[in-house]
Amino acid sequence: MAPILNWVEMHDDVSLPTASPEILHAIPPFYAEYDARCLVVLPGTVFDQIMHHIKGNCSVERIGILIGRPCKRPSGEQLLACVEAALPVDDITASRVKVSIQKNGWKNVWGEPALNSTGSIIGWYHSHPNHGVFLSAVDRKTQSLWFAQEWKTAIVIDPIRGEHQAFTGADGIAAPIIFI
Ligand SMILES: [Zn+2]
Repeated sequence: MAPILNWVEMHDDVSLPTASPEILHAIPPFYAEYDARCLVVLPGTVFDQIMHHIKGNCSVERIGILIGRPCKRPSGEQLLACVEAALPVDDITASRVKVSIQKNGWKNVWGEPALNSTGSIIGWYHSHPNHGVFLSAVDRKTQSLWFAQEWKTAIVIDPIRGEHQAFTGADGIAAPIIFI
């Protein structure tokens, strides 16, 4: 199946559009002072959908894809990963302590017909039931292989401890989540 056009186009395009006034208005001013290259903008409704998915089974790690678009502040110094939707990926073998999508698995995700009409993949999420929010060695490998651009986002959620954290770019740097 053909790769998603937006994904391919964005892969080599470093000139991001400026965020819309609506999005800029929704970001509290103090985030401009944040020492973070990339901020993750996440609608509360999408977060609720993610939580609904991962709380469906807290005995395994669950995983999904984040759809949205990257943009930048007018100053260009901060990037914004604007999440617009989340899609569960349920056909992947999960265990209690480890979830990963092997190379072929990610190829299948890119080819999902549902993604072709909804937008670009800007990241992924998965759960760490009761073992905290961090990127494991496998997570870091996944991030650097498939989500290397600065705005590519990994959101890790521990539904039992009630913790969540975003990480961006090939190195998986911790990034603030701004709920809108
Ligand atoms: Zn993990």
